[in-house]
Amino acid sequence: MPELPEVETVRRGLSDLIGKEILSVELNRADLRFPFPEDMDSIAGRKILNVDRRAKYLLIRLENDLTWLAHLGMTGRFGKTLEGKHDHVVIDFVDGTRLVYTDPRRFGIMDLIHGDDEHKLLNHLGPEPLGSEWNESLLHESIRGRNVSIKAALLDQKIVVGIGNIYASEILFRAGVSPKRLAKNISKKMAERIYNETQNVLLAAIEAGGSTLRDGQFKNTDGNLGYFPHEFAVYDREGENCTSVECSNLIRRVIQSGRSTFYCSHCQR
Ligand SMILES: [Zn+2]
Repeated sequence: MPELPEVETVRRGLSDLIGKEILSVELNRADLRFPFPEDMDSIAGRKILNVDRRAKYLLIRLENDLTWLAHLGMTGRFGKTLEGKHDHVVIDFVDGTRLVYTDPRRFGIMDLIHGDDEHKLLNHLGPEPLGSEWNESLLHESIRGRNVSIKAALLDQKIVVGIGNIYASEILFRAGVSPKRLAKNISKKMAERIYNETQNVLLAAIEAGGSTLRDGQFKNTDGNLGYFPHEFAVYDREGENCTSVECSNLIRRVIQSGRSTFYCSHCQR
């Protein structure tokens, strides 16, 4: 499942499309996670003005007040050429280039937003972790009294958007906070460390993801979005030595809300 850095990497790749005029759109099936909007072909004839992102939604701004919303689901990706039977949306541009949306598991979402209309998927989202509207005080405030683990709180899209299972483990490791600690027991100091490490981890991941774009693709060579496993300090490292200097502990894995969390019980309290 792509998290914010991967979607931001895709957004940066798609910004190559700014200024291009859409010639035609071909839908190879009726739906992804939801049916395509009935007027999906109304994107044809419009130029792409900008490519924005809100949480994990890509917002492709088109001429005449239309926004094309796209979510990559679990396995969605954009490419420049046809790949095979999982190519569900094919966009041809007036300049002869092409954009292909491929999604084997079809959990992706596409919709259109007219003018300044609110969209039900965007209405209830919390603050952007890298935006100026979020900070350590707001984080501390939003988890005060919450009787859930800090790991679950970081995954709650009303508290902060775009952080998923991988980066939540990484952030809490670098902040030195146990993923099992209840949100209501997070001190102001801990909230500050979590906030700071959220910035560090997400920005480093975006930076790493950007290197895949230089290959001229919106995905890495494995066909996946740009995760860089060698850079993970704890994620997927169960039983390996903790990467902190002077720590001889092994990384543990626990299941929280049905999903794996990786952490060091010595370094994280
Ligand atoms: Zn450790």
